[in-house]
Amino acid sequence: MKVLTFRKSLLCDYDREALENAIAVNNVKNGRILAVIAVIIEVLLQAGALLYALLKLDSSFSIGTYAAVYLLLIAVSLAFLFVTRGYDKHGAHSKQMKSRIECAVVAYASFLMIWGSFVSLLDQKLYGHLITFMANMIVCSVAFLFEKREYVIPFSVSSIVIIVGLPFFQFSMNVLIGHYVSILIFVVISWFASRVIYHSYCNNFISMKQLNETNILLAKKVDENNEINRKLLIANARLKNFAMFDELTGIPNRRYFREFIDLAFERFICSGSTIAIIMTDIDLFKKYNDMYGHEKGDKALAAIAKQLSCIAKDPDEIIVRWGGEEFVYASFNRPKSEINEKAALINSKIADLHIALGEDPDKYLTVSTGICIIPIKAKSDVGRALALADNALYHAKSCGRNCIRTADDIRAVSPGI
Ligand code: GH3
Ligand code: MG
Ligand code: MG
Repeated sequence: MKVLTFRKSLLCDYDREALENAIAVNNVKNGRILAVIAVIIEVLLQAGALLYALLKLDSSFSIGTYAAVYLLLIAVSLAFLFVTRGYDKHGAHSKQMKSRIECAVVAYASFLMIWGSFVSLLDQKLYGHLITFMANMIVCSVAFLFEKREYVIPFSVSSIVIIVGLPFFQFSMNVLIGHYVSILIFVVISWFASRVIYHSYCNNFISMKQLNETNILLAKKVDENNEINRKLLIANARLKNFAMFDELTGIPNRRYFREFIDLAFERFICSGSTIAIIMTDIDLFKKYNDMYGHEKGDKALAAIAKQLSCIAKDPDEIIVRWGGEEFVYASFNRPKSEINEKAALINSKIADLHIALGEDPDKYLTVSTGICIIPIKAKSDVGRALALADNALYHAKSCGRNCIRTADDIRAVSPGI
């Protein structure tokens, strides 16, 4: 297996510091867990030994070498817990605090490993095994994240202690040779494991950091896109408004009318449907413009359009500025009586505005209106209805203006049409 190499020097200062903090947090957390476990185990062992002696099951109880080393482990573990007590993983720490924590972690790990070597030497007399040395070395290799140079000291000192001390405690040559072989294999594996864990942690940390940075960048881009889309939607709505509504009067225009008819075929028109068209034209508007000027003419047009916009309120009806001073109302499936009322309302609403036309107070702007109601099956019927309403309007004009005429009126006058 290839050990993933990690070069801390390739990181920028900010990342290096973040990595060092993360490693410190990991080491303190694991170190404190180990210290608590060590204290609990050793206290239980000491309590068991004491109880055993008190019950006089073993009169040989005394604070011997083992008890002393166990007490030493308890004392050092408690000291480690004390020194690292204020270390908050989220808090900002001074450089002094950081180096104090680093020293405490290295010292505690070194102590655990060297202590393991001593206990294993003591174990030779009674049990002849190396469990404590091995257990402490592997636990420290896995629990703590050390750079190579930090780890060399505890690692080599504990190894030297066991290697040099073994001949003084283990007198069986065969066991001694077996121990040396075990130590050699075990030390190599532990070192390898510690390096793999350290490098994987560092590489993982950097990958996570890069992933977070990419995610932040992505979120920013998504936000930017959303903002662009929002602006586009607003611009589109504005464009649609420009395209569909008359600039001067604010009411729908012919383009809107076409869309309305398309929609009507989907929603309101079925077999047996009728379409009603009311076409209205302001009377003598050229004269009005000539008398008061184009600007006042515009104002009068806007005022008239405002009155007319109240006529079409339901989804199946519409009123548009057809062009110039001409307006068209359209709706579907409404009785003739209702359409006639609407046309009368249009004429009276405009007359009620009392927009003066000259000096005579009885003369004001009026409109002439043409009505047509016919069955509708295809879109071409709309054009036909418009043409018939236009004829009726022309008829109203020829009848002296300020009046309403229907397509039926024309047929009555000229049956051929
Ligand atoms: P009639 O009763 O026969 O309809 O007479 P009229 O003068 O209203 O009709 P004509 O077609 O001769 O003139 C229409 C006038 O409407 C001419 C034009 O100046 C005026 N007009 C059309 N569009 C506008 C507009 O947007 N603003 C203004 N101020 N006047 C307009
Ligand atoms: Mg006119
Ligand atoms: Mg006209």
